[in-house]
Amino acid sequence: MRSRYSAYATNNAEYIYKTYAKKSQVAQSINEIKDWAEQTTWLKLVIHSASTFDSKHSESAMPTVHFSAYYQHQSKYYQLTEKSKFCFEDEQWRYLDGEVSQSDELGLPSRNEQCFCGSDKKFKRCCGA
Ligand SMILES: [Zn+2]
Repeated sequence: MRSRYSAYATNNAEYIYKTYAKKSQVAQSINEIKDWAEQTTWLKLVIHSASTFDSKHSESAMPTVHFSAYYQHQSKYYQLTEKSKFCFEDEQWRYLDGEVSQSDELGLPSRNEQCFCGSDKKFKRCCGA
């Protein structure tokens, strides 16, 4: 089951999180968005669940991807958890909208503590590397 959707889910979630600043900060100036993007490093993407991307023309069955993204902005770390919807337009899947369920600043683990992204690695060997 997972192999059927994993490529779509991974690509689409990656697309969302790489373009998130633009989407969420659309009311701000281009320069502010650019500054934000330049000061932000995306660390890790975790996909919690994703529906199949099979039913391309059924509005009632729009696929969703539930994911968490971990990122660093300036010297602080953040987690964003979102459930995103997709629709199929012009022969490709497009991001429709998303519902953010969590957006938190994360406390910094010490270098030898387990990383906050859930990887089972020490922070210094994972997101803190
Ligand atoms: Zn990590």
